[in-house]
Amino acid sequence: MSSNESHTVGIVGAGLVGCLAALAFANEGFKVELFESRPDLRDPDQQVLSQLRSINLAVSARGITALRSVDEEMADRVLKDLVPMHGRMVHDLNGKQICQKYGLYGECINSINRSLLNRSLLDELDKLDNVKVTFNHKLIRLDNLKRSSSDNLENAANSEVVRGHFVGTKTNESLTVENVNVWIGADGSYSQVRSQIQRALQMNFSQEYIDHYYLELRIPAKNETAKSSHFDSTCPEAVEVGTEAKFALNPNHLHIWPRHEYMLIALANSDGSFTCTLFAPKSLFDKELAISASDADVVSFFRTNFPSAIELMGDDLLLESFRKNPRGSLVCVKCSPYNVGGKAIIIGDAAHSMVPFYGQGMNCGFEDVRTLMAILKKHEFDFETGFNEYTETRRKDLGAIVDLSMRNYQEMRHDVTSTAYLLRKSVDGFLSRVMGDFWLPLYTMVSFRADIPYSRAVQERQWQNDILTWVIRASVGTSLLAGTALWHGRLFNTLSSLYSR
Ligand code: FAD
Repeated sequence: MSSNESHTVGIVGAGLVGCLAALAFANEGFKVELFESRPDLRDPDQQVLSQLRSINLAVSARGITALRSVDEEMADRVLKDLVPMHGRMVHDLNGKQICQKYGLYGECINSINRSLLNRSLLDELDKLDNVKVTFNHKLIRLDNLKRSSSDNLENAANSEVVRGHFVGTKTNESLTVENVNVWIGADGSYSQVRSQIQRALQMNFSQEYIDHYYLELRIPAKNETAKSSHFDSTCPEAVEVGTEAKFALNPNHLHIWPRHEYMLIALANSDGSFTCTLFAPKSLFDKELAISASDADVVSFFRTNFPSAIELMGDDLLLESFRKNPRGSLVCVKCSPYNVGGKAIIIGDAAHSMVPFYGQGMNCGFEDVRTLMAILKKHEFDFETGFNEYTETRRKDLGAIVDLSMRNYQEMRHDVTSTAYLLRKSVDGFLSRVMGDFWLPLYTMVSFRADIPYSRAVQERQWQNDILTWVIRASVGTSLLAGTALWHGRLFNTLSSLYSR
C-alpha cells in the first residue's frame, strides 16, 4: 500500500470544483470522502429542479487543460457536449448582428450546460472504488483546526485529527467524520470551510455584492418554436455543419444584446435551445422588472429593449421564466491565506468568488485543482509545505482575475458598441499579428492561454495599454496632420492657380 492509499482526503462540496478535486486525489491513490449538502442532482426528482436553473457556462483553455491534467479520457467524456463559440455576436436594437471574433486564429470558448457537466463528473466518480460520495450532508464545523489560542499557522498545523461535523439535510441527524487527514473546502461562495479557517487564523477577507442581479430566460430549439432568426453571415465558417436546423440563432457565438446599463446574453445548448441571462441593476428589478409588474409591462420592457430576442423566445416563455426563475445576486470574494497548515484548504468559489463577466469562475476553480496538484506532487504530498506554497503563489493570480472579471461587465454591456473600443481592438489585433507571442491581446491571454498566469496577463496588459493609447493618439494625430496638409495643399494650389491666371 502506497502512503497515499493510507491517507483520506475529505472534500466538502460536490459542485464542479469539488468533483474535479475528488477525481484528482483519487487518481493519485488517496481515499476520498466527498460530502454534499444537496441531494444527488442525478436523481430523477432533482433533474427537474436542476433544469429549472440551467445556467450554461463558458469553458475555455484553463478549464479544459485542468480537466486533461487529471485524466485525458475523462476530459473527453465530460466535454463531449461542448458547443464552440468563436466570438461575440452583438445584437443592436434594430436586430442587426455584428460578429466580434474572440481569437485571431479561430480560437474559441465553449458553451456547456452546468448541470450536465456536474452530472458527468459525478458519473466519473462513481467509477472509482476509492471515492465515497455522501449527499444530503452539510458541514457545520471542523474541530481542531487550531490547537492553541494563538492564531498562527505553526500552531494550527498540528497532528491532531480534524473532525468534521455534518448534519443530514433530510434526516437532521448528526454525522461526525474522524478518519479524514486533510480537508478541501470546495463549498462555494458562502463556504463553511472558509468560516472554520477564519476561526483558526487571521484571514484577510473581503466580500462585495455588486448592485446588479441576474435572471435566466430561455430561447427554445427551433423545432419547439415557429420563429427563427437568420444566421449572421459575417462569420459563416463558425456554424457547425448540420446544426443550423435546430438552433434559432447562430450557436457558435456568445450572443449579447448590450444596452449600456444592462444586457442580455445567450449561450447555446447542445439540444438546440439557448440559455439567456439578463444582467441588470437592482433598481430595474425593483421597478420595471419587479415580480409584481404586470405581464403587459414585462413584455413591453423586453420588446422595447430586446425585440429580436423576444421574437425568438415568445411572450409566454418569457413570462413563464420571468415569474418562475429566481433573481440571482452577484458577489465577489477575496481572501488569503487559503489554508491552515496542512490540515485544510479552500479552492474554487470558496476562495475566490467573482462576477461571471469573464467566464472564468469555474475555469479558475478547475485551474486551482491543477495548480494545487502540481505543487503537492512536487512536494511528494507533504500537505503543509504544499498548501503554504499554494497560498503564497496563487494569491496574486486569484486577486487579478476577480478584478478583471468586474471590469469586463462594462466592456460587455457598453464598450462593445463603441467605435473607440472597436478601433482599439483592431489595433490590438493588428499588433498581435505583427508581433506574435510578444503581443497577445488580454482576452487571448486569459481565455486561450492556460500557460500564462492571470497576474502576468494583467501586467502585460498594463504596458500594452500605454502603447495602444500612444499608437492610437499618434495615428489620429497623423491623420489630422495629413488631412490638414492635404487641405493646405489644396488651398495653396487654388491660390497659385488664381495668381497665375
Ligand atoms: P459551487 O458550484 O457553488 O459548488 C459548491 C457546492 O458545495 C454546492 O454543490 C453546494 O451545495 C455545496 N455546499 C455548500 N456548502 C456546503 C456545506 N456546508 N456542506 C456540504 N456541501 C456544501 N464560470 C465559468 O468558468 N464560465 C462561465 O461562463 C460562468 N458563468 C457564470 C454565470 C453565472 C450567472 C454565474 C452565477 C456564475 C458563472 N460562472 C462561470 C461561475 C461558476 O458558476 C462558478 O465559479 C463555479 O460554479 C464554482 O464552482 P465551485 O464548485 O467552486 O462552487
